[in-house]
Amino acid sequence: MTEGFDPSELASLIVAHDAPHAFEAVVPPIVQTSLFTFSSYEEMLATYRGEKVRPVYTRGLNPTVRMFEEMLAKLEGAEDALGFASGMAAISASVLSFVAPGDRIVAVRHVYPDAFRLFGTLLKRLQIEVTYVDGRDEAAVDKAMAGAKLLYLESPTSWVMEAHDVGALAAIARKHGAVSVIDNSWASPIFQNPIALGVDLVLHSASKYLGGHSDVVSGVVAGSKAMIDRLRAEAYPYLGAKMSPFDAWLLIRGLRTLPLRMKAHQASALEIAGRLQALDVVETVCHPGLANRLPPGLTGTSGLFSFIFKPGVDIRAFADHLTLFKLGVSWGGHESLIVPGEVVLAQKAQPNSAHTFGIDARSVRLHVGLEGTEALWRDITDALSAASKAA
Ligand SMILES: *Cc1c(COP(=O)(O)O)cnc(C)c1O
Repeated sequence: MTEGFDPSELASLIVAHDAPHAFEAVVPPIVQTSLFTFSSYEEMLATYRGEKVRPVYTRGLNPTVRMFEEMLAKLEGAEDALGFASGMAAISASVLSFVAPGDRIVAVRHVYPDAFRLFGTLLKRLQIEVTYVDGRDEAAVDKAMAGAKLLYLESPTSWVMEAHDVGALAAIARKHGAVSVIDNSWASPIFQNPIALGVDLVLHSASKYLGGHSDVVSGVVAGSKAMIDRLRAEAYPYLGAKMSPFDAWLLIRGLRTLPLRMKAHQASALEIAGRLQALDVVETVCHPGLANRLPPGLTGTSGLFSFIFKPGVDIRAFADHLTLFKLGVSWGGHESLIVPGEVVLAQKAQPNSAHTFGIDARSVRLHVGLEGTEALWRDITDALSAASKAA
């Protein structure tokens, strides 16, 4: 998809991909099998010689997973895509495919906490150094990129939601001859298409908006055929964190409603963020949609944002009095969720690390689900009055 793309067209794109299926089923069947048999010795030999491409074993190629991969590649305007067992598998395979001991990568600060931990543990042990930069400061990114092999982006970033000019950052990576990778889970392909902005590889935690129903953990990477083939050559089969057929089937189901869900998350979250900003007890709301304008290439906003309470609010009582917003990590499903910053800070970023991911102890992160704006706002105001009585 390119800029100016009308999300309502997505439904027709998905439907076009959808027919015909076995038994004329409107929903594609799950090819839930580990292996595929051959009709003859000759066919098996031709497949092993590489003369014929067909499924052999589900860790390599499975038709249900392939169907999801092709749909996602189309949505991201990419030539190809690969499905992984989790967002973290997509992140680790993407980075490990393009670095070697002694290399340095540059990452925007406040990346997803487990990406930070991957960089600080496994990559460190492989002698790959990571430099963190403020992605809004393009001069600093340019300076840090000298000699770096890879630029790792996430926009907006986890928790503090720093949003970047992704096209400008991709151009900087290209100028330095480095591979650019972006975690696009927050915006989804509906609101940001990084390939069109010049990014090499775009990845998702499909556990979030792509699935949309909080019943899948999986990931996906999209990019040019050459780059995806590079992942397919090593990181994919040998690290082996392959998407399962059942998860792919659930994701195909999720994609059908992605445009509608994203519009609903956007509208409800923007409304609630705006109302929160007007409250006396709130210091700052971190939501890119409240700024004067979105960065170029970001065409909409999702349901995830955070805000910081002024001192004096009993955040524990607030969280405990919410009924529609449940206490829980992850996001991107139908349900509304809250995560208190203080709880996240209770788990160290890494042993002996004081890194905070930019999280303020008085902040909370909300995922605004699909329950309805007014019901959610009532939940928040009821919990706030209960919390001020408790304080
Ligand atoms: C959840 C998340 C991930 C990790 O995805 P998993 O599917 O849980 O492995 C990566 N990036 C972001 C921004 C996330 O929120």
